[in-house]
Amino acid sequence: MQDAAGHVLIVEDEPRLAAVLGEYLQAAGYTHHWVDDGACAMDAFHAQAPDIVLLDLMLPNRDGIEICRDLRRHATVPVIMVTARAEEIDRLLGLEIGADDYICKPFSPREVVARVHAVLRRHRLVPGDMPAPGLRIDETACCASVDGRPLDLTQVEFRLLRTLAASPGRVYSREQLMDRLYADHRVVTDRTVDSHVKNLRRKLAEVGGEDWVRSVYGVGYRFESNRSI
Ligand code: CA
Repeated sequence: MQDAAGHVLIVEDEPRLAAVLGEYLQAAGYTHHWVDDGACAMDAFHAQAPDIVLLDLMLPNRDGIEICRDLRRHATVPVIMVTARAEEIDRLLGLEIGADDYICKPFSPREVVARVHAVLRRHRLVPGDMPAPGLRIDETACCASVDGRPLDLTQVEFRLLRTLAASPGRVYSREQLMDRLYADHRVVTDRTVDSHVKNLRRKLAEVGGEDWVRSVYGVGYRFESNRSI
């Protein structure tokens, strides 16, 4: 697998800039969703449950500072603030709005993708972290094991396990999971997610893992272990 892809929320009122960013992110294996209005940012955040937010400072109807503060009240999602002027960054740092990184326009899309990647890596599980007793997920090698017994997972199953296990207890809808499992936006159905979950559960059971992937009736799935309760 090329990269541990993630889902990016782009809040940016310049359509061409957003489109270019989207293209580069997609080429790097990320999925994304774009909103151009500050007032829509929080709704989009709740609907999309992104892994990271690229947040422009100057937006119509609601500015990036306010949105970033709002995000911080609701979530630990990493935020990269995008500003039009370098001197703004000092001011933003002084305001302690809690962004994880700052990028100044004009920027190279390649640089933005590199920053997204770096910030996400800091936030995600480090190799050796154990979301459940005996379960190891190695982000770098894209493999997982239970009590040292390797799990023979497909790329999609690995992404599924990694996504769920990265936020134990958090409920994901099938749609949110589909967004994370497929970088190429191909048409998949709810059933597809269910069948991947079924296979993942079977493979976990085969190596002595527990039923950590729980169904949430009418909603989707969540990862649950003794440690996450
Ligand atoms: Ca702007």
